[in-house]
Amino acid sequence: MRHVAIVGSGPAGYYTAETLQKADDIAVDVIDRLPVPYGLIRTGVAPDHQSIKAVSRRYEGVALADNVRFVGHVSVGTDVSIDELTDLYDAVVLATGAPHDRPLDIPGADLPGVIGSAAFVGWYNGHPDFAKLDPLLDAPGVAVIGNGNVALDVARILAKTPAEFAGSDIVAHARAALAESAVRHIHILGRRGPHQIAMTPKELGELGHLERASPRVDPADLPDEGDDAMLEPGMRKSVTHLRSFAANPVAKPVTIDFDFFAMPIAIEGDGRVQRIIVERTTLDADLRSHGTGETYAIDAGLVISCIGYQTPPIPGVPYEHGRGRFASDDGRILPGLYAVGWARRGPSGTIGTNKPDGARIAEMVLEDVGRGAGKAGRPGLDALLASRDVTPVTFRDWRRIEAAEVAAALEGNPREKFTSVEAMLAAIGR
Ligand code: NAP
Repeated sequence: MRHVAIVGSGPAGYYTAETLQKADDIAVDVIDRLPVPYGLIRTGVAPDHQSIKAVSRRYEGVALADNVRFVGHVSVGTDVSIDELTDLYDAVVLATGAPHDRPLDIPGADLPGVIGSAAFVGWYNGHPDFAKLDPLLDAPGVAVIGNGNVALDVARILAKTPAEFAGSDIVAHARAALAESAVRHIHILGRRGPHQIAMTPKELGELGHLERASPRVDPADLPDEGDDAMLEPGMRKSVTHLRSFAANPVAKPVTIDFDFFAMPIAIEGDGRVQRIIVERTTLDADLRSHGTGETYAIDAGLVISCIGYQTPPIPGVPYEHGRGRFASDDGRILPGLYAVGWARRGPSGTIGTNKPDGARIAEMVLEDVGRGAGKAGRPGLDALLASRDVTPVTFRDWRRIEAAEVAAALEGNPREKFTSVEAMLAAIGR
């Protein structure tokens, strides 16, 4: 029997398990520190993007396979170490994602009211680590830093009316806080231009259909229309949306301004953020941005940086600090230790990108492990955890948690999530 442990039950973890599970003589344990599975699907994907979240049904199919087990509420590093796992399993695959924000390294970034997207997205999605974030929504201005899809998610969630959350699984505390929000002017700051955005067309197009909010683009920021021909088709569609926003300004009470060529250089305020100072930029031949010396201020009571994520290092596991991911040779970290998904390649690509990634790492593991080295595997982990009084949450337990969340949903919504580990455990009588 071959024993494989996958650390992390998000998309990369379950796509890896999906391929592994089809092999002969294999037992796969998917370990997660939370009592609930699916990682980014549950706590990263926007609550109003339920069609993307539906992929969790596929992971459920994998989780229910006879040779796959969910080992929830077990923290690698606290309840069990990486060294213990590599002793117990023929292969250990780190699918831990990139849950930490890349730091915003400018003066004032430590003021109250400056937060990262991991925290804000975790808050509206009910991640237990961020349920108590209480973001400052009491001022009209908000600055959202970054020109990727996360910046779009954040701006859209800030702009929506309560009615526009119908059918979503946004959590109760966020629903209530956003309903009372004073936010009226959202600025999305990109340090480069419209041709350098990392926003996909569907997500960008959504901004044009909001009930009380309208996107605004300064036509002067747009390159010549003929230059769009050089773009790949997806980018061209995205830029077409920007052109349409610029050409058809719509007056609505909430504005979403795209500030291009705008590099944040400082955040100021008396005891909390009050404004962000931005420097106009130009691009060099390599499309890198450079400050022009011309600055302006944007009033903002909240600054949310959406500038990418990093994987937290694990002591003893080689790590690339510059890239914020584990150091690996295309997935192989050390003998018996692998990385997959964002933990391997950094925070890029969609959920679907993890499918071929997971399959490839699984094939690599199967090739390396051969018929198995006769390690202790599951029974060994169970004995170790029992000796430490750690009782994992099983997939059957999770389904009881899920049933309680579904039962608590507002009419028309898929679920009302528990937002603390204690509440999740209470739902299974612990
Ligand atoms: P991203 O796509 O890498 O975008 C990060 C943005 O931050 C870029 O515009 C980047 O600008 C900017 N940035 C980086 N450092 C900066 C700094 N110091 N100051 C100002 N701006 C800075 O990252 P993301 O938005 O976090 O998304 C992560 C991944 O998840 C992406 O692959 C994304 O497509 C995916 N995602 C997909 C969806 C969806 O499909 N619905 C939703 C959310 C996320 P430069 O280009 O100038 O570096």
